[in-house]
Amino acid sequence: MNFYTQILTRNDCYKAGRTIAPQGVMVHSTGANNPSLSRYVPGSEGIGYNTGGNHWDMSGTGACVHAFIGKLADGSVGVVQTLPWDRRGWHCGKGSRGSANDTHISFEICEDGLQDASYFGAVYQTAVELTADLCKQYGLDPQADGVVICHSEGHTRGVASNHADVMHWFPIHGKSMDTFRADVARAMEGEGEMLTYEQWKEYMVRYRKELAAKEATMTALVADAVALGISSDGSRPGDLMTREEGMVMARAAVMAARINEN
Ligand SMILES: [Zn+2]
Repeated sequence: MNFYTQILTRNDCYKAGRTIAPQGVMVHSTGANNPSLSRYVPGSEGIGYNTGGNHWDMSGTGACVHAFIGKLADGSVGVVQTLPWDRRGWHCGKGSRGSANDTHISFEICEDGLQDASYFGAVYQTAVELTADLCKQYGLDPQADGVVICHSEGHTRGVASNHADVMHWFPIHGKSMDTFRADVARAMEGEGEMLTYEQWKEYMVRYRKELAAKEATMTALVADAVALGISSDGSRPGDLMTREEGMVMARAAVMAARINEN
């Protein structure tokens, strides 16, 4: 994730200085065809510079989010953080039951013309990664009720004004907030405990001697494999395995090698 920080200290929202204890993340998109991050922040060499005098780092903007996702100066997609994560943002107004401004970290995805699949793919993936990072940082479960929601879902839940974002855009590219929440959960697992096959091979080489030194018995190995749900039908582990599964598979490989030697 290409990450920049440009806190909008001249925005009235920042100046208000109120804080929240983050309980979720609200996903927005801008509703205007301008994918450039420099539309919304003063900018820098990497971000690109605002030339319209219309960025949000000024009094009277009337809104502020915690981050924007969009195009950097070189055309690639990145993130600019614009408020401290625990500052109370002005991003969703209020609904019949209150306001997610009091509970949710927010970011805007800069919209383009909504039809470009490659731009959408890049901002969607970046949004997944940013949300996964925030959920980790604040100990949030992205699939728990009401934690990761978009603006339109917030309105349905009575905690936001009546806006369509992001459900006027995501479905054009086969995505929804349900796929988004699932992808965030997967991203959180992926960084934590899942290994790719390549990683597992590296891991196995590294621990092979150590494992061989331990007098693992076939009985203990089988018991551990059963406890982890590793099955002979191939359903577990699949393409990805946990570190614990990797350890058991490595031990099994070491034992198989020994049997061959004998
Ligand atoms: Zn919105």
